[in-house]
Amino acid sequence: MKNKYTFLIRNLKPAISEEDSRCLQAYHNFFKDKQKELHKWLIKELVNHHDFGNLIRSLSNEALEMQNKYSQQLQYNAIFKDEWDDFITYQIQQGITYAQMDINFYSWYDVVSLARNWMVPKLVKETKDEADLLAVLGGMNRFFDISMSIIAESYLNEKQSIIENQKKEQEKINERLHQAMLAMEQKNQELEQFAYIASHDLQEPLRTVSSFIHLLKKKYMDELDEKANMYLNQISNSSERMVALINGLLEYSRLGNQKERGRVDCNALISDLLLDLDQMIKETQAIISINEMPELEVYPAQFKLLFQNLITNAIKFRQPDLDPCLHISTTDKEDHWEFCFSDNGIGIKKEYFEKIFIIFQRLHTQREYQGSGIGLSHCKKIIELHQGKIWVESQVGKGSKFYFTIPKSIDHEKAT
Ligand code: ADP
Repeated sequence: MKNKYTFLIRNLKPAISEEDSRCLQAYHNFFKDKQKELHKWLIKELVNHHDFGNLIRSLSNEALEMQNKYSQQLQYNAIFKDEWDDFITYQIQQGITYAQMDINFYSWYDVVSLARNWMVPKLVKETKDEADLLAVLGGMNRFFDISMSIIAESYLNEKQSIIENQKKEQEKINERLHQAMLAMEQKNQELEQFAYIASHDLQEPLRTVSSFIHLLKKKYMDELDEKANMYLNQISNSSERMVALINGLLEYSRLGNQKERGRVDCNALISDLLLDLDQMIKETQAIISINEMPELEVYPAQFKLLFQNLITNAIKFRQPDLDPCLHISTTDKEDHWEFCFSDNGIGIKKEYFEKIFIIFQRLHTQREYQGSGIGLSHCKKIIELHQGKIWVESQVGKGSKFYFTIPKSIDHEKAT
C-alpha cells in the first residue's frame, strides 16, 4: 500500500510548477500506465472490504489530524460529495442492490480516505513552498476525481460480471433441474405403466388359480384328510389376499388416468356414501356427523374413493369398547379448503404418521384388522392429483384426525 503511494507522489512532484491543466494531463498519463495495476489492487481491496477496513483502522492518528487540518483547504468534502453522487447514479443505472450499495459506500469512503490520509501528511512534509503545496494538493484532488470514477466503473463492471456469471450459473442449474424433473416424470410414468401391466396380466393366472382351488375344495374336500384341507384353506386365503392386493395395485396405477373434472357437492357425495356403507354403519353402530360442505371442482370418481377410504378406515380402526364416532368438517382457508376427518378410534403412533401413506404399509396383522395397506396411498395419490396435501394427527387410544387440502384453483400446467 505505502509503496504504491510513495511511487505516486514521486511522479506527482515534477508537475508541481506546471499549469493546472498540464498538471492534470501529466497525472493522467502516468495514471494510464499504472491504472491497470492500481485498479486491480484497489478492486481487490474493495471486494475484500472487511480486510480493507482493518487497514484503515490501523492508520495513525497523526494522519487523521492532518486530514482535518487540510480538509477545508482541499475542499474535498465537496469534491467527495460530487464523486459520490456520480458513483450513486452509476450504481443505480447498473441495478446494484441497496445492500450492495451500502457496502460500496464504505469501500469507496475507505479508499478515498486511506489514500488522502496517507498522501496529505507526506506531501506537507516534502513540499516546502506553500503555493507548491496547494498546487500538489489541487492536482491530487483531480487525480482522485479521475481515478475514482474509473475505479468505481471497473469495480462495478467487475461486480456486474460476477452477478452475470452467477445468473448464467443459476440458469444452467435450473435447466439441469428441469431436465432431471422431466426424466423423473418419464420414469414415474413408465413405472406406473409397468405396475398397471404387471397387475393386469397377473390377474388372469391368479383368477385361474383361485377358481381351481375353489373347485378342488368343492370336489375333494370330503376325500382329503384334515391336514390337506387346512393347507387348501390357507392356499385359498392367500390367493384371495393376493387378488385383493393386485386389484389394489391395478387401481392405484389407474388413478389419475381420469382427466375429466366436474363439480361435486360434498354434502351429496357423503350422503351417497353413507347409503353405500349402510350395512357397515349399522353393524358397528357408527355415528357420523358432518358440517356444511362446499361444492368443488374435482375428479369425481377419485374424490368419492378418497372419502370412502377415510370413512371406512375411521370405522374399521375403532376401539373395541367404543362405538365409532366420525366428524367430518371443512374450513375455508382463503385459497384452499381444509378437510378434517376426526375419529375416536385406536389412534396411530407418531412414528407412523408418514409411513401409513406408503403403499402396502400396514400397522396390524390381518387377524387384528383386515386390509391391504393400499387405502391411504390411494388417498395420497388422489390428493396430489388435486394439488393438495394430506397428513394425520393422532394420539394412541384417543383417535385420529386426517386432514387434507384442496386448492380453490388448480395449476393446469401441473395438472396435465
Ligand atoms: P388398510 O386399511 O388396508 O390397512 P390403509 O392404507 O388404509 O390400509 O391404512 C394404512 C394403515 O394406517 C392401517 O393399517 C392402519 O394401521 C392405519 N390407519 C389408517 N386409518 C386409521 C384410522 N382412522 N385410525 C387408526 N389407524 C388408521
